[in-house]
This record gives sequence, C-alpha cells and structure tokens, in this order.
Amino acid sequence: MTTLTEAGAAFALHRNPNPASDAVRAKALSDLKFGTVFTDHMARVTWTREGGWADRRVEPYGPLSLDPAAAVLHYAQEVFEGLKAYKHADGSIWLFRPDANAERFQASARRLALPELPSEDFLGSIEALVAVDRAWVPDADESSLYLRPFMFASEAFIGVRPAHVIDYLLIASPVGPYFTTGVKPVSIWVAQGFHRAGPGGTGAAKTGGNYASSLVPQSVAYQNGCQQVLFTDAATDTYLEELGGMNLFLVRKDGTVETPRLSGTILEGITRHSVLRLLEDQDVKVVERDISLAELREGAADGDVAEVFACGTAAVLTPVARLKGPSFDVTVGHETAGGGAGEGTAGEVTTRIRRELMDIQYGRAADPYGWMRRIG
Ligand SMILES: *Cc1c(COP(=O)(O)O)cnc(C)c1O
Repeated sequence: MTTLTEAGAAFALHRNPNPASDAVRAKALSDLKFGTVFTDHMARVTWTREGGWADRRVEPYGPLSLDPAAAVLHYAQEVFEGLKAYKHADGSIWLFRPDANAERFQASARRLALPELPSEDFLGSIEALVAVDRAWVPDADESSLYLRPFMFASEAFIGVRPAHVIDYLLIASPVGPYFTTGVKPVSIWVAQGFHRAGPGGTGAAKTGGNYASSLVPQSVAYQNGCQQVLFTDAATDTYLEELGGMNLFLVRKDGTVETPRLSGTILEGITRHSVLRLLEDQDVKVVERDISLAELREGAADGDVAEVFACGTAAVLTPVARLKGPSFDVTVGHETAGGGAGEGTAGEVTTRIRRELMDIQYGRAADPYGWMRRIG
C-alpha cells in the first residue's frame, strides 16, 4: 500500500459503515459485466461561484439528494470522463495517461460553461478513491476498475444560464473483458438522417447530450442487426466522423492507416491518439484526413480497405467486419473474415496494436512513452 500524495490526502475520508462483505465482493468480482456494479465509496468536490472548489471528500457510495429544479435535469449542463485502473502482476495499481483525461475534462467543461476542475483534484480524487476501494480492483485477465469522473449543474434554478453550484463526483465499477468470448468483430450501421454533432456544437466535448442524441440512431442500428452506429458529418453528410462513443480507423491493403481528422465535431480519443503514436513509431504511414463514406464503401467492396476498427477506453480496439446502411451492405476484410458476415476474426494490424496497447496498460511490456502512472 502506498501513501497518498498531497492531492489524494486532501480528500477527507468518510468510511462506508456498511461496505460489501468479502463474500459479496468476491461474487461480484467473479462475474463482471460492464458498468453494473459499483464500489463502496465515491469521491466528491463541490464548486460554488463564491467559494470555488471546496469540500473534497470520499464518502459512502449511494443515491444523491438533488433538488428537482437542479439545472442539469433541465438543461443538461454536465460533462464526464472514462478511464481505467489496471492491476499489474505484482499487485501495484496503475492509470493510463490520466493527465490527458484531466485535460480533456477541463476542455469539455469550458465548452459547457462549467468550472475547470484542477488536475490535482482530478488525479487526487482517483488516488483517494482507489486507495479506500483497492480490494475492488479485479485481477482477472483483461479486467480493470473503470473510473467515471463527472460534474453537473446542481444549483436549484430553472432559468437558463451557467449554474452557480456544481458537483464533481467520481464513481468506480469493476469491469471484465469487453468481449467475454474473445475479440469479436462487430457490424456497424451508418446513420442516415441523424447526426451526432454539428459545426459549432458540442461534438468535441465529452457530454451526455451527445449520447442522448445518439440513442435513436443506435436503436435503428440494433433493429438492423448491427451493434454500433457510425455517424457522418452534419454539414455535408459525406465524411466519416466516429461511432457513438468510439473513434474509427481504416487499414489499407498497402498498410497505410487512415482516420478522420479532428474536425471539431469529433471527440479526440486518448486511445485514438495512442494508436496513432504507436503506428507512427513503427514507421507505419498514418494519415488524418476527411474520409468519405463512398470511399470506405468502395474500398471495403474491392478489398483496398483491408481492416476497419473502432477504438476507445472501454473496448480498447474493436474490429469492424461489416458496414450496413439502407442501400448497402459490405463486408470488410475478405481474406480474414471466416464464417458468415459479422463473424470472422480481427485483422492483423487491429490484433497487433490492440495487444501492444494492452501489454503496456497491464505492465506486460515496457512503457517507452511514460504513459502509465502508479497510484497504489
Ligand atoms: C470517450 C469517447 C471516445 C473514446 O475516447 P477514449 O479517450 O479513447 O476513451 C470516442 N468518442 C466519443 C464520442 C467518446 O465519448
């Protein structure tokens, strides 16, 4: 057990008088799903216009008491983050690029007219929560403790203006491998008539509203036998942007890797950035540019696009085997996809980068970039 840094020690601990018993926790950790089980505590900081950030604490996990007029319930003034704590073979606990999450949290907050949480508080809250709930960090293969920092307008006021009272919270959920039966390629539905974000909107911020607007097209995707939805740009309906919560990559037959450029309507994934970095250092040609849906369809159909994958913290890298819309249905990677459409295995580049990234995260490989930060 490591001692807390000053930032972590700033959080006063109010212990849960009724934590889960060892047996209950062991049972929960033996059957991990995504985001259904939470640890015994949560971290919290409150901001007021007069006093700034204050009252740093770790308290029992539980329901919030919120005034029905709390602004977030009416105007969705909120932002969030997502990252994981990984247990290494020696029992130590690590985060992957948490400074990038802290910075993105601040950038999202600026766009939503929310106060910026200092990075020390972002990292300190994680350190303090993981220290008290350390027994909840799973050690099974590919499992981790998913961390969800978020802040919202808690002021009771239903006029439209930035709120004067804000709550920051951090909750944690032990999660297993995103794919319980190994990495399975997914089918994606290309949204028609729906957009996730528009020019000047909030697409580059990690905010709930972007997800709310993605739910209807996401259910259309399900109805069409697809697990994920892919959005095109709102201005021209021509260029690929991203999935509901993951960034998109293409691997050409000649080995070139392409991904949509950051247009202001795409969320800049930390996984996306890390994948680009790994590929560049392997002398793979990587191109960030506008990629049209027509190009992807043609490339997938004639085999010039050999692999497609999506990436994000939750699932790391997810191979895409099939692309569907009302008027088309193409399979990606003819050589590697065995079985029926939507089955098959991940492509070579997808598999390799996924493994390399996870080897760094789980401490099985060296970390030449200094991406990992030990917190316990
Ligand atoms: C969080 C998120 C991603 C992935 O970001 P990571 O930092 O890689 O987890 C991609 N798109 C959207 C819309 C997101 O909210």
